[in-house]
Amino acid sequence: MPNTSSNTPLHDPTGGTVPGATEIKTTTCYMCACRCGIRVHLRDGEIRYIDGNPEHPLNQGVICAKGSSGIMKQKSPARLTRPLRRIAGRDRGESAFEEISWEEAFALLEKRLAHIRATDPKRFALFTGRDQMQALTGLFARQFGTPNYAAHGGFCSVNMAAGMIYTIGGSFWEFGGPDLERAKLFVMLGTAEDHHSNPMKVALSKFKRSGGRFISINPIRTGYSAIADEWIPIRPGTDGALLLALIHELIQDDRIDHEFLKKFSNSPDLVCLDDSAENGLFLRDPQREAVNEDLPQNKYAWDQVRNVPVQRETDQTEHFALTGEFVMPAGPHHGKRVATAFELLRREVEACTPEWAGSITGISPSRIRLLAKELAHAAFEQAFELPIAWTDAWGGHHDAVIGRPVAFHAMRGLAAHSNGFQTVRALAILMSLLGTIDRPGGFRHKAPYPRQTPPRVRNVSDETQIKPNTPLGAAPLGFPARPEDLCVNANGQPIRLDKAFSWEHPLSAHGLMHNVITNAVHQDPYAIDTLMIFMANMAWNSTMNTTSIRALLNAKDVEGNFKIPFLVVCDAFDSEMVSFADLVLPDTTYLERHDCMSILDRPISEFDGPVDAVRIPIVPPQGECKPFQEVLIELASRLKFPAFTTADGGRKFKDYPDFIVHYETAPGSGIGFLSGWRGPNGDQSLRGEPNPKQWEMYASNNCVHHYEMPIEHHYMRNWNRGYMKFAKEMGLRQKEDPIQIAIYSEILQHFRQSASGQRPGRQPPGHLRARVATYFNPLPFWYAPLEYGATALADYPLNAVTQRPMAMYHSWDSQNAWLRQIHSHNYLFINPITAKNAGIEDGGWLWVESQWGKVRCMGRTSEAVEPGTVWTWNAIGKSDGAWHLQSGADEARKGFLLNHLISEELPLEGTGRISNSDPITGQAGWYDVRVRIRPAAGDEPEITYPQSHTPSTTAATSAPTELAYFAGSLK
Ligand code: SF4
Repeated sequence: MPNTSSNTPLHDPTGGTVPGATEIKTTTCYMCACRCGIRVHLRDGEIRYIDGNPEHPLNQGVICAKGSSGIMKQKSPARLTRPLRRIAGRDRGESAFEEISWEEAFALLEKRLAHIRATDPKRFALFTGRDQMQALTGLFARQFGTPNYAAHGGFCSVNMAAGMIYTIGGSFWEFGGPDLERAKLFVMLGTAEDHHSNPMKVALSKFKRSGGRFISINPIRTGYSAIADEWIPIRPGTDGALLLALIHELIQDDRIDHEFLKKFSNSPDLVCLDDSAENGLFLRDPQREAVNEDLPQNKYAWDQVRNVPVQRETDQTEHFALTGEFVMPAGPHHGKRVATAFELLRREVEACTPEWAGSITGISPSRIRLLAKELAHAAFEQAFELPIAWTDAWGGHHDAVIGRPVAFHAMRGLAAHSNGFQTVRALAILMSLLGTIDRPGGFRHKAPYPRQTPPRVRNVSDETQIKPNTPLGAAPLGFPARPEDLCVNANGQPIRLDKAFSWEHPLSAHGLMHNVITNAVHQDPYAIDTLMIFMANMAWNSTMNTTSIRALLNAKDVEGNFKIPFLVVCDAFDSEMVSFADLVLPDTTYLERHDCMSILDRPISEFDGPVDAVRIPIVPPQGECKPFQEVLIELASRLKFPAFTTADGGRKFKDYPDFIVHYETAPGSGIGFLSGWRGPNGDQSLRGEPNPKQWEMYASNNCVHHYEMPIEHHYMRNWNRGYMKFAKEMGLRQKEDPIQIAIYSEILQHFRQSASGQRPGRQPPGHLRARVATYFNPLPFWYAPLEYGATALADYPLNAVTQRPMAMYHSWDSQNAWLRQIHSHNYLFINPITAKNAGIEDGGWLWVESQWGKVRCMGRTSEAVEPGTVWTWNAIGKSDGAWHLQSGADEARKGFLLNHLISEELPLEGTGRISNSDPITGQAGWYDVRVRIRPAAGDEPEITYPQSHTPSTTAATSAPTELAYFAGSLK
């Protein structure tokens, strides 16, 4: 058996003489978003196989089916190889293109974009899919001057990011995760095997081998859940109720970390209860200066020994009251009624008993009670100390860090609901009650997090920040902290095309890509000119309501002009979306280009310090493919964006690698896209002058840079004085003030106050007042997904959800010859009891219907799904002919999408329609849809419904090639 993790190349397993010169190059995988280190083995310059890089900190040599199949991405016949322009007079969706040169493409774009930029920059919209260079795409949009920019987060997991960041200052996956090396109990909620994939597998395997107990809470038992010690099935969209009941139990049994909550959260801070302008806000001492003007910390706590209010910002927290209601004595707040934030949480969850949660979740009350006891037992009876000295923000010295070995992990199963933000808040608060934030065995941050709750990044909030031929006056995306931060005009109407940061979805930190096409076609809130889409299959699996969106992409006005006048699509493969483009820009694969996973963006940091990574070209681009990064640099230079132009009007950056090396966030800041080998000699980390040899240094170091912090900076980083100083010096944070956990979110209360008419300044439109007042509860609460209110639940009794399979990532692998052998079509998985009640047989054809649409597919019965849920793999089904699959391929005839059953909008009183999203963050409510199932009639055709056709682009795609892999000779 060959050792596939060794450093010895495995070029010829048959043992024959190896012909040709061999070499190994390292880079970073991009067959999914996990960014494992890989070794690409070449013979005579041609890729022979790919394996995991044992020297890479993230995956330590482990590779998955997708990663090792990257070679077939290179060999796909669906590669686009030249720029294409839709033939005049032909419809979108016909794939009727003519080849043009890059110079023609650039000239066309330059002229069009220059005109938009000089007249009304917001008529250009740039939306990207699962791109890993949002720091660059966001910079491009900002320099262009358009607020209409976002990546995929709004339809992915923005609730997970925002819910956690607004509460504890960090989030799961890229910005934090479970410390399974030291945890004793691990609880995973709503997670398939798609995020943090290989690192999670490695950690889980070690965790289980060392005796850890793993509980999975999920409607479906697949992937990681399949190896859990216990699976607790739960109804989709109800995790919030479970989490609130666990909080209820821990508070009732007083099994919480008092010391942690008093010192490191806003639990003891006094909230005004009077019906005044301060209602629901923390009282503040006007005599004391606020350290941070965004999140003033000059608050009060109640000293329960002396029975007086005292300064909250102090090291002397042991006397603070955690519960109770008080009246302020003489002084600036004389007579005001106050309660601690924790007291308000206690009251909020008082009715959230296990019996209440049991009726919502389907989990027995006794199991919920036992789970609360298990969590507390791990946190308190199994607690330990590590002898690591550290100093807190108030100067208090600690000889050790306390370990609370109960860890959690959660993902889209919690996030992709219209109640997801408050559910994720509940999870973050549960973790905080147990004292497991940035402590050994619990949740731990990864640089650049933790950051303030929320980070001090403000988005465009005023129309005057958008001016012709001028960069935006603020970032396109940010973290609003007040209604004044919303992206609305003087009438309170949305400024952005996707209506992000409007009163409809005030905290939409990642935008709402799922509404862009619908809004653009309806010219709501206004008409745009050019929509540029990168790496997002919006005409198929990345959109809700797929059939209707495909029609909208082709919609014309009465004069026959497209309602979206110009559509640019950049992709490496001939996807369903490409066929709708007016201009197609052929992208490279991840093995053909430079890339960076930057600290300015989403790095691959470890718990012990910042880590970033790069890709370097392994092989030259096919045909005339050009990395989208190069396209952006070229356009930014031609359009003379200030950040891309020298003082004398010349071009500042030769190309993308040159840009990455020389760009600094501010002139002379020493902070750029890459943190490794900075400074003239390449001997500085994180901060230093640009180093012209930086790419070479990454290339000779496994394409990864790992800065290991001193041990005293590894834990308690929200309040760790040494770490905070380091983080500010290195540009990871703007200030050094402590990041207190927001058990009570005053930020949400500001919005609620406006909606209730208690706050001057910006006010929501009348039809949204009740909505904002209801959902912007400063304490977590559970409500049924919004779609339920628009659905006859008795007619649609089942929940329907999707997951990504282990062997395919979105639709990226539809054309991958190896991976298609694992998944070429999908089934609807149904609990046997549910299937029997509906008269559906294992393997039989059936209809699954929502109020929005219907799908015919094949079903499989499975005990690994709770009876009220049906589910399938996403993005396996294809439009017939797309991706250069043969007409009639299994993907089109037997594969299907659930997207046809999901609406991108819901009805709303007052305006008629609103995005099908979380009312706080705009997170797409993918998993809220309700369905019913019935057997297909015996005489129906045995193919999936609906069927659609996408003609293959005949121009400029690569010819199929074969690979003589084990034959010992070159093809
Ligand atoms: S988990 Fe993702 S990044 Fe890692 S090897 Fe697999 S496909 Fe590549």
